Amino acid sequence: MRVGIGYDVHRLTENRALILGGVEIPFEKGLLGHSDADVLVHAIMDALLGAAALGDIGKHFPDTDPRYEGISSLELLRHVGNLLEEHGYAVENIDAVVIAQRPRLLPYIPQMVENVARVLGVEKSQVNIKATTEEGLGFTGNGEGISAQSVCMLIPLVDWSVMTDSLEGECGGCCGCHE
Ligand code: MG
Repeated sequence: MRVGIGYDVHRLTENRALILGGVEIPFEKGLLGHSDADVLVHAIMDALLGAAALGDIGKHFPDTDPRYEGISSLELLRHVGNLLEEHGYAVENIDAVVIAQRPRLLPYIPQMVENVARVLGVEKSQVNIKATTEEGLGFTGNGEGISAQSVCMLIPLVDWSVMTDSLEGECGGCCGCHE
């Protein structure tokens, strides 16, 4: 098993949509960034890439690349999910927190969880998203920006057909039987 951590911050500004976890949230400001500036998905991607020792989103999706201008971060997350699979990892679970004084995010969290789970091809029960404030303190407290943190765990993908052949009917004492 491998763990990863992700952290991101974006500035709140006028004339931008506020997108968190792929959900457009009604608010008078949005996050500034090259992509849709989905700070939550960015933190999740960095956790996933970190757990797989694949660097960070700046390496994979440079903000100087016009291909990523205004792109939905869920598209980038899909790419990260594919990368993990190519490198032999599956997502065990993701936990994340969005830190914002306003707006109130609780009503939108189920849709955020559904979006992240769908794009990564995992169950909703493997994704947890929370929101908190910082009690009016600091840059999130005064509404200058929103931050997000995430941790995740990855497990190795195993080619069970090969495993079964090599075991010849005997249990190899692995971590569990595949269905
Ligand atoms: Mg970012």
